[in-house]
Amino acid sequence: MQESVMQRMWDSAHLSGGNAAYVEELYELYLHDPNAVPEEWRTYFQKLPSDGSAATDVSHSTIRDHFVLLAKNQRRAQPVSAGSVSSEHEKKQVEVLRMIQAYRMRGHQAAKLDPLGLWQRPVPADLAINHYGLTDADLDTTFRTGGLFIGKEEATLREIRDALQQTYCRTIGAEFTHIVDSEQRSWFQQRLESVRGRPQFSPEVQGHLLERLTAAEGLEKYLGTKYPGTKRFGLEGGESLIPLLDEVIQRSGSYGTKEIVIGMAHRGRLNVLVNTFGKNPRDLFDEFEGKKVEGLSSGDVKYHQGFSSNVMTAGGEVHLALAFNPSHLEIVSPVVEGSVRARQDRRNDLSGDKVLPISIHGDAAFAGQGVVMETFQMSQTRGFKTGGTIHIVINNQVGFTTSRAEDSRSTEYCTDVAKMIQAPIFHVNGDDPEAVLFVTQLAVDYRMQYKRDVVIDLVCYRRRGHNEADEPSGTQPLMYQQIAKQRTTRELYAESLTSAVSHSADEVQAKIDDYRTALDNGQHVVKSLVKEPNKELFVDWRPYLGHAWTARHDTRFDLKTLQDLSNKLLEIPEGFVVQRQVAKILEDRQKMGAGALPINWGYAETMAYATLLFEGHPIRMTGQDIGRGTFSHRHAALHNQKDASTYLPLQNLYAGQPKFDLYDSFLSEEAVLAFEYGYATTQPNALVIWEAQFGDFANGAQVVFDQFISSGEHKWGRLCGLTMLLPHGYEGQGPEHSSARLERFLQLCAEHNMQVCVPTTPAQIYHLLRRQVIRPLRKPLVVLSPKSLLRHKLAISTLEDLAEGSFQTVIPELDTLDPKKVERLILCSGKVYYDLLEKRRAEERQDIAIVRIEQLYPFPEDDLAEVMAPYKNLKHIVWCQEEPMNQGAWYCSQHHMRRVATAHKKTLFLEYAGREGSAAPACGYASMHAEQQEKLLQDAFTV
Ligand code: AMP
Repeated sequence: MQESVMQRMWDSAHLSGGNAAYVEELYELYLHDPNAVPEEWRTYFQKLPSDGSAATDVSHSTIRDHFVLLAKNQRRAQPVSAGSVSSEHEKKQVEVLRMIQAYRMRGHQAAKLDPLGLWQRPVPADLAINHYGLTDADLDTTFRTGGLFIGKEEATLREIRDALQQTYCRTIGAEFTHIVDSEQRSWFQQRLESVRGRPQFSPEVQGHLLERLTAAEGLEKYLGTKYPGTKRFGLEGGESLIPLLDEVIQRSGSYGTKEIVIGMAHRGRLNVLVNTFGKNPRDLFDEFEGKKVEGLSSGDVKYHQGFSSNVMTAGGEVHLALAFNPSHLEIVSPVVEGSVRARQDRRNDLSGDKVLPISIHGDAAFAGQGVVMETFQMSQTRGFKTGGTIHIVINNQVGFTTSRAEDSRSTEYCTDVAKMIQAPIFHVNGDDPEAVLFVTQLAVDYRMQYKRDVVIDLVCYRRRGHNEADEPSGTQPLMYQQIAKQRTTRELYAESLTSAVSHSADEVQAKIDDYRTALDNGQHVVKSLVKEPNKELFVDWRPYLGHAWTARHDTRFDLKTLQDLSNKLLEIPEGFVVQRQVAKILEDRQKMGAGALPINWGYAETMAYATLLFEGHPIRMTGQDIGRGTFSHRHAALHNQKDASTYLPLQNLYAGQPKFDLYDSFLSEEAVLAFEYGYATTQPNALVIWEAQFGDFANGAQVVFDQFISSGEHKWGRLCGLTMLLPHGYEGQGPEHSSARLERFLQLCAEHNMQVCVPTTPAQIYHLLRRQVIRPLRKPLVVLSPKSLLRHKLAISTLEDLAEGSFQTVIPELDTLDPKKVERLILCSGKVYYDLLEKRRAEERQDIAIVRIEQLYPFPEDDLAEVMAPYKNLKHIVWCQEEPMNQGAWYCSQHHMRRVATAHKKTLFLEYAGREGSAAPACGYASMHAEQQEKLLQDAFTV
């Protein structure tokens, strides 16, 4: 029955007493035995809210009654102290209840999860009746069932034990008793025990399962024959993933989900692309034949490619997006979360009902890579939550060549890390497709109801080696002897259906033939694929494509409006008491807005945000301490000294303004930066900023810079306008926290992939941030942002500088010098400029000009040439930097400067003034720092 038909019937139940009675009867029946009602109704009832909170107009008295019963049962299930019972029977009764609990907790350890049957696990002692002093003689004695959901309040010990074994020790291993919330634990008990871990599926559902398995197997066979020995990281052994994904999509679609973002590594990816996303097999074949994708300079291998499509579900059209993925396995998980959060923000989907993240993991990486833990940790935080992720582990029991358990982890399961956030975990034997289907339904329903992460551990195997060119028996001899004998999941399932006479052998063969024919004809093989997708479901990126990075855009802003916004930011709610130093900052800002005080960094940056919001651009900022700013210059979030409430002036500029989101992030760099990358690649209209507490904190996120930020556009055609603020400056604070490792970013720069800027005035950061959004170009922006410079008396601007002007890639000499007298030109970036300026002023030198290069990449050769042009009598040109010679901009940028210098005058030779090469970024002694600093300034004036 279609959902809509059921819905109509349900609705009409309120009009006609007859229908209502029928539906309630069905529901009653379902409560006692879910298998007794037709599957469509079962699905419907399963999705009904169980806490009564959202349920006001359906047969809810029944639901309420049911939960009263549930609670009652639970109370009964409380262990009774042995001393308080008298009769022998009552003592045994207590033991029976303890045994029930033991099965719920440890039944999974006796479950048959390994399709290869090679696991040798001791059965926990407390699953045997004799552990409780019970014997075979007690098997026919009747006991109360406590909270066991088997449809009766009393049953024989035999019935109870059998029900427990069936529920917890067949092909599903459920781990949920680590969840502290008792309502959630009851929810799982009810769902699992009431069907004894195995609902009955209709022949239609079984046929569909078989069809999906046939597709999964068929594609690998086809590719194996057509392209033997070519790497494809096949899914063989884990084919159940395809029906699993199908169910997640269809079921969440029926809940009203509109978008699903999937992240996965290479294993099985081609299969998912063709059989889940409906990628045209012909396009895949082209990739096997090495055809280049137009418009990408690098491109990527086929098993890293992302894809998008729309599919139809019972709840309407759903947009699917598969994230592009590098080889660094788990790093895509936080990227997916960020992309999902951006979509949820766009839809104002506060609960996470409309957009669902799915993360597909490998067993070894899930257990091994720390970013998994970081991603779990963010799952319920304000700034990063997405309403729960469905995690699927393709557990093929081998991490490349590392065998299970001995070397790859310290826990029994690869999924134990998920317990850190109390996520329920379902281990399921991949060779039991119906069990896989059932746990998938549970996972989706749980996620939709509780908005928390859930894990499906699909225990399967890898029929071939790590890839198709690899021979696995060399390292896993026994496992591969078994695999050689193992029949495929599809074969086993087809056989079970034919022997149960629900499907004929001809029907099974027809499915195989149909699939093969479709591939031969290069046809789409996803029946639910929408051929003309509804484009409203996703963002249109066309306005951001095809712009030259040199195109100039106006970042000026009307002075009067700027002042109005500035005043608005100072309006603080009645009774809100700000801290004394913060009050002083606000007082100064008031003066700056009135033109009575020169503008500092904090003010200019705040006004960049205010003006962008005014122009309709949302802003999202995250990072450790981003609200205050590590160096206490920002104070974008004010804290009431009376009651610790917070107030964000930028959220209160005007009614209906775009979102201004600011979150102090939890203490992670890798996952948070990856999240923001995912966010920025999904939301082009926003200013998205990640700030490192100190620039070198970005080290912990290096993989995100290397694999995504610097190369995503050229590998995958994915634009990204993410801005990263990395405090940088040599201030005698030691090897850590001095350097944002500028050299690393510059070394990654090529093909105009990103921007690296070192602004030195408040007006520069203002125009730079505005340029980042106003220009339709979307390129990552790395800003080496200041520390002491935030308060430097010379690092100031005027209101007019904000209202007029633009970001200057090169800032010419500011003092009035006679160009003809200038014989030495010092080029520099960042804070050292002010040291050089003060020295020159102190020495009253007229022959030295100092020019700041504020954008190191793309290097502004033309702008520099223009600035140098008046200096016709140059004898020396020097690059001065604070960083050691092997760091900073020297090695990566000197060729640009040389080119401009020799074009200016053939004999000009670029000299270096800076620290000697050094293994550490900076020295640890203040006196040594001061000496080095003095020397490099002196060198700039003399070399
Ligand atoms: P998605 O919702 O991620 O599936 O994206 C839908 C479509 O938007 C993709 O097929 C691309 O054409 C385009 N698109 C999405 N993200 C980007 C991006 N970061 N840069 C350029 N185009 C994008």
